[in-house]
Amino acid sequence: MTVYERLGVTPVVNAAGRLTALGGAVLDRAVIGAMAEAAGVHVDLAELKQAAGRYCAARCGADAGYVTGGAAAGVVLMTAAVVTRGDAAAIADLPASTPPNRILVQQGHLVDFGAPIAQMVRIGGGVVVPVGATNLTSGAELRARLHEPDVSGILYVQSHHAAQKGTVTLPEVVELARGAGVPVLVDAAAEEDLTRFTRLGADLVAYSGGKALEGPTSGFVVGRRDLIEACAAQESGVGRAMKVGKEAIAGLIAALERYGAGEAAGIAARRHAITDALRTELEGVEGVAVSEEADEAGRDIVRLRLSVTPAAGMDLPSLVRELRGGTPPIAVRTHHLGEGWVTLDPRPLEPAQVGVIGARIRQILGTGTQGRDN
Ligand SMILES: *Cc1c(COP(=O)(O)O)cnc(C)c1O
Repeated sequence: MTVYERLGVTPVVNAAGRLTALGGAVLDRAVIGAMAEAAGVHVDLAELKQAAGRYCAARCGADAGYVTGGAAAGVVLMTAAVVTRGDAAAIADLPASTPPNRILVQQGHLVDFGAPIAQMVRIGGGVVVPVGATNLTSGAELRARLHEPDVSGILYVQSHHAAQKGTVTLPEVVELARGAGVPVLVDAAAEEDLTRFTRLGADLVAYSGGKALEGPTSGFVVGRRDLIEACAAQESGVGRAMKVGKEAIAGLIAALERYGAGEAAGIAARRHAITDALRTELEGVEGVAVSEEADEAGRDIVRLRLSVTPAAGMDLPSLVRELRGGTPPIAVRTHHLGEGWVTLDPRPLEPAQVGVIGARIRQILGTGTQGRDN
């Protein structure tokens, strides 16, 4: 019996994506193996963290690195680093800080990724100062704000959650911030490119380990050595509430090792094979229509768009509800449900689950409208 079975918790067939709500990434055997190995051995945790930080830094072309509990913890720690600069009394005071330590954030970057990013800044002792409007922040306004008193940093959010236009670009932000002597913090939680933000001149960059990198629940920050040391110094303060264990550190490093090693082509080929199989499977189901959909952020992911036809005898929200509530539960991506379609993401799926999804949809539609009662 698995621990999930002992707890009476049912595993979900995940066609929605690497969502925190569905447990993040499913880990490769090599990553699971590294975590199991690490879990059974005592180690000097400070030494492990130093070595892991160096590895992350090297992979990102940065001076220094620090492993975190996730990208959200990374945002807290990056903020705390620029607010306290490693000063022991300031670290002990957090989240209070005097004078006000203003952290500028373009209005279009004030996202909610399941929790509001502004709150992460506050935990780190920052006072969020939104700059511009949701759809437009000008360089001139940003420049003026950067030169106001008590500005401790600017947080730049690179994300599909953020406004995709009307914001000041990272190279411009770096240039303006340099002119004002203000550090640039980047939240690159779900990004696939490990070197870009360091190359563009960010002072600190936070990544999530459990998103693009397919690691365990974890993350890391890379950047300027003095600021990375100030991130690590939070362990005796707010950072303690975000501690990372040896298993997560080991899993993150194993995932990073795998992420680099020419696996990209293999991973893309596997994704495309699953999308093709799913398309063939669902094209044979009466009552649904499928088509392929390119990734909105330009990554090498082809997803399937699924909608219902009149032959289904059921509307799409009902179908989605039945899939999620049935056996096995099947989760799909519902961002566009209101527009009449849902999306199936090949990344978290196993090949064997393609048939399970097809069979379940056939079963639901076969029972027509009766199934709507639950
Ligand atoms: C997911 C996400 C986070 C949080 O990352 P965790 O690793 O889950 O803590 C932070 N910022 C953005 C933009 C995200 O998409």
